[in-house]
Amino acid sequence: MAAWETVIGLEIHAQLATKSKIFSAASTAFGSEPNTQACAVDLGFPGVLPVLNAEVVNMAIKFGVAIDAKITPVSVFARKNYFYPDLPKGYQISQFELPIVGQGDLSISLEDGQSKIVGVTRAHLEEDAGKSLHEEFTDQTGIDLNRAGTPLLEIVSEPDMRSAKEAVAYARKIHTLVQYLEICDGNMQEGSFRCDANVSVRPMGEEKLGTRAEIKNINSFRFLERAINFEVERQIDLIEDGGKVAQETRLYDSDKDETRSMRSKEEANDYRYFPDPDLLPVAVTDDDIERIRASLPELPEQKRQRYISDLGLSDYNAELLTGSRDIADYFEQALAKAPTLSSQIANWILGNLTGALNKADLDIKDSPISAVMLIELIDRIADNTISGKIAKQVFDAMWQGEGSADAIIEAQGLKQITDSGAIEAIIDEVIAANPDQVEQFRAGKEKVLGFFVGQIMKQSKGKANPGKVNQLLRDKLK
Ligand code: ADP
Ligand code: MG
Repeated sequence: MAAWETVIGLEIHAQLATKSKIFSAASTAFGSEPNTQACAVDLGFPGVLPVLNAEVVNMAIKFGVAIDAKITPVSVFARKNYFYPDLPKGYQISQFELPIVGQGDLSISLEDGQSKIVGVTRAHLEEDAGKSLHEEFTDQTGIDLNRAGTPLLEIVSEPDMRSAKEAVAYARKIHTLVQYLEICDGNMQEGSFRCDANVSVRPMGEEKLGTRAEIKNINSFRFLERAINFEVERQIDLIEDGGKVAQETRLYDSDKDETRSMRSKEEANDYRYFPDPDLLPVAVTDDDIERIRASLPELPEQKRQRYISDLGLSDYNAELLTGSRDIADYFEQALAKAPTLSSQIANWILGNLTGALNKADLDIKDSPISAVMLIELIDRIADNTISGKIAKQVFDAMWQGEGSADAIIEAQGLKQITDSGAIEAIIDEVIAANPDQVEQFRAGKEKVLGFFVGQIMKQSKGKANPGKVNQLLRDKLK
């Protein structure tokens, strides 16, 4: 019997994919020389004034509309005051009481095929801080301010998740959504998409939430799951040993697979929030919202439904194909060339192609086999030029860069044998060489048919058309 219930709420920081920063014209490009991309506004020099980048407002509204959230008609930027070396202004411009995106929700699919609604409390705009570099220096800390002023959308969930798996499903769903909306590149290694997990436990059946710890520094979905599981164990052990969970910020160490205390949790009033006097409130009209709603691409959930109802794909395949915009785009490029072959295309993408990509640790965007190349291969199976088995061989050759499906089939002489005369000649040979099996078949042992088919396919080097073989073989054996 599970005596404890896990409660998780996530705060996700999605870096908005604008060219310039949220309040200045400085570039947001990743990977430049330290301290070459922070301008006087980002550094908060006396006398400078921030100017809001209109594009970040559009992007936040896109997200809000996509999760059916209330868009706040007039939202306000506030100063969150704290002292830290990578925050040269001494405050971060964020939103506090009036975030641009209010309450919304998101449906997540769970492993058992069920779905669950997770509440989104709010999503607000804010600027990122700089980076402290601890590893590159001994007894010193380097400060890189390139990231200062980079636009972030912080998406805060309700404490609705009940397991690490649910938290991962939710985080993945948001990750997919922001990429579909083209408001965030989703790159977790570069820190464009970061998760903080708030974790608590409570006795099963208890309504009051337990004291939570907030885990920072999680940069992959795998670590998110492991960090939460570790933290849940730690809290249960602590309470069962008579201790108390402290409300604190903890750090996840992926090398040791553990969380460690970083600092005690600050309360909102520690930050002395107040409206930023240098920035006007952000007014959003219904027209703005409708214009943005009309500009939205087809969202993953709509796509998934369409793949099931219009294309006849299985729930499972539809879910996998829409799990990333890149995969869905690839699928649709192929589908555009052969609209009747949807399930074959889905199977090739989710089977051989995904297998090969995973093995080579490649993204579908960098696949050596393009959607157009893949559909040529699938076409050759559909028009009986090659069998499904030979197609795998052609696929491998395409992967190795040996050219298009047609070129490989031609060069390696892989065309299927459909000519009845040629197939009959092989069948006759095989029948003559195996009189015992012929006897068995005639005595009613249907199973030996498989043996004959195997022999014939082997003789033909896999090129005989299996349908023809089956049909002609039965006739001859009778
Ligand atoms: P803060 O901004 O100080 O971290 P919030 O109240 O905004 O605090 O909550 C942040 C996140 O913590 C939200 O995602 C919320 O759902 C989650 N949360 C709040 N209380 C708990 C709790 N007891 N257990 C788990 N998650 C919680
Ligand atoms: Mg927090």
